[in-house]
Amino acid sequence: MQTGVSGMPQGAGDGKIPVGISSCLLGDPVRYDGHHKRNAYITGTLCEHFDFRPFCPEVEIGLGIPRKPIRLTRKQGGEIRCVQIDDPSIDHTEALQGSLEQRRDWAARLCGYILKKDSPSCGMERVRVWHGEMPAKEGRGIYAAALMEAFPWLPVEEEGRLGDPLLRENFISRVFVLRRWFAMREQGLSAAALMRFHAQHKLIIMSHRPGSQQALGRLLADCGRKRLEETADAYLGELMASLRIIATRGKHANVLLHVMGYLKSSLASDDRQELAAMIDDYRRGLLPLVVPITLLNHFFRKHPDPWIADSWYMKPYPAELILRNQL
Ligand code: SF4
Repeated sequence: MQTGVSGMPQGAGDGKIPVGISSCLLGDPVRYDGHHKRNAYITGTLCEHFDFRPFCPEVEIGLGIPRKPIRLTRKQGGEIRCVQIDDPSIDHTEALQGSLEQRRDWAARLCGYILKKDSPSCGMERVRVWHGEMPAKEGRGIYAAALMEAFPWLPVEEEGRLGDPLLRENFISRVFVLRRWFAMREQGLSAAALMRFHAQHKLIIMSHRPGSQQALGRLLADCGRKRLEETADAYLGELMASLRIIATRGKHANVLLHVMGYLKSSLASDDRQELAAMIDDYRRGLLPLVVPITLLNHFFRKHPDPWIADSWYMKPYPAELILRNQL
């Protein structure tokens, strides 16, 4: 297989990946108090791979810096609105929703989005909603809700959750999948391109939601009966929903054993036993994922298999991100 940037197979899209972000996380002083919430992991490690596209919906709708703080409030009847704290008659809900409408084309080209947690505009989940004196952590920021409803396939995560190795890997892995999807679409949509994309991602899908790879394969097999665009949209929606499910050690171990099957006739018995024992140690939490993957890659260098070489499972993102060392 030919390789491009970072040793990744060609056709995956070159250069940094466009990812939307709440401006304050990059260090822009756009918060209501004139400060920022710069995140070191984002501005350090992730900036190496992602081309961050910052956006502050509150500044966009003209609230200014500094500005009066706002919050989510549950009205009589249950509706959630975003209002100014010192004067709840000032309601910014529609304006914040509209800020996405202005930027739909911009957002449609993104491969992921990192949002600022707890914000009544940007928070992805568990944002405080006030009802009387007591808040309940049950809301979603108004802009974040509009974004996630308009682009349900878009990988979205909060900076706080990126501290969790499983959630971090899940998010970054989905960003790279969507990037490859866009790269495939840029080459021109065809049934053959969809089939190849699916084959390249089968093992990744298996590690998240076993069985989904077959359902998605059937969706593509039905391609002839529907318009290609319609099939592609349905496929992307299902694919990204499957990938949101966390890949556990048990699911990865099953995929690793499946991959090992491709070496069945090439490995000596002691190599097979060593590999199987390593996969079992990984399943039991004694080793990180990178260890059996490294050994498998070593064996596939000696005994190449074209299907495995074309699969993204063995190298879903650049190794420098050091994600599989913590899984
Ligand atoms: S959380 Fe969102 S709205 Fe608030 S300052 Fe950051 S980018 Fe702006």
